[in-house]
Amino acid sequence: RKEPVRVLITGAAGQIGYALSSLVGHGELLGKSQPVILHLLDIGTATEPLNGLKLELVDSALPLLTDVIATTNLTEACTGVSIAIMVGGYPRKTSMERKDVMAMNGSIYKMHASALEKYACKDCKVVVVANPANTNALILSEFASSIPRKNITCLTRLDHNRALGQVAAKLAIPVSTVKNVTIWGNHSSTQYPDVNHGIANGIGIRDAIKDDDWLDNEFVTIVQQRGAAIIKARNMSSALSAASSVCDHIRDWVHGTPPGHWVSMGVLSDGSYGVPEGLCYSFPVTCQNGDWSIVQGLPIDARSRHKMDDTARELEEERQLAREFLQD
Ligand code: NDP
Repeated sequence: RKEPVRVLITGAAGQIGYALSSLVGHGELLGKSQPVILHLLDIGTATEPLNGLKLELVDSALPLLTDVIATTNLTEACTGVSIAIMVGGYPRKTSMERKDVMAMNGSIYKMHASALEKYACKDCKVVVVANPANTNALILSEFASSIPRKNITCLTRLDHNRALGQVAAKLAIPVSTVKNVTIWGNHSSTQYPDVNHGIANGIGIRDAIKDDDWLDNEFVTIVQQRGAAIIKARNMSSALSAASSVCDHIRDWVHGTPPGHWVSMGVLSDGSYGVPEGLCYSFPVTCQNGDWSIVQGLPIDARSRHKMDDTARELEEERQLAREFLQD
């Protein structure tokens, strides 16, 4: 039997944590033969639901779940983890400015970075979910400098999966026959869901759908606004799909993407496609041997260039704001 892997979920008592911890226990994160020890972290006010979650996980009698540590102690939560899923953060209330939520979450991510740096495994793989996800990941990478920068990512896989789902629904084909869409940029409404290189049923998505107007307008808006549509329908934000996409993100990163497939991940830019170096930006990536690489050489038309630059500009503004309040 394999040694168990320690997996941290922060903000574990929240909605995404609730769905995610069960998926992890069922082997959706690291595969059906990999035992895990779940480290569930939340803040003092969430102690009761956090303990409740632990009780439910015990009651699920999941063979792969070797142990569950439910804690409000950051050191205990980070000790020995080799996967860290950062879901904890203040939600943006309607009365709050973007910079207010950034300041609050920025200071949390600075603190969590220091704890991961001290207590997590040195090759810990990190995915940030809490918003603003890209900039929180950037802050984390700056304050956890002993963790390789390549190991710090943010989640755009939900947006990627939403794009696959929309193409499949439009063509009435199984989602498994659609691949290689790309989410460029920020996990925000400026993200650019790009189908120009995507494949549906073995042919280009544009040739399969034969409706460029829909692809250039309605499709992009549906993907960008899908989170808001789910809040309207459920009166709560998406949780199951977010949790499921976290599993896809980590599983592909650890076990590799299938030949000929790419996925979208928020990673630190090396300047590829003219994206300013050091921004945490979503790119098309393939994964092999536990490493991701940005897919190179995709032709970029003028319309895409414009959208990729707009979302990069928003991320540069966020980086600037983060620098200002972290200096204070
Ligand atoms: P959720 O579990 O629904 O969401 C958690 C975070 O994920 C939010 O920041 C949310 O951002 C973000 N997110 C990113 N992508 C998505 C997506 N596609 N759909 C939904 N959310 C997404 O929030 P809860 O409020 O239920 O739980 C948060 C937990 O964090 C609570 O248990 C709370 O106690 C904890 N917390 C921890 C803090 C800390 O560690 N110091 C501070 C504050 C809270 P958005 O709000 O923009 O959707």
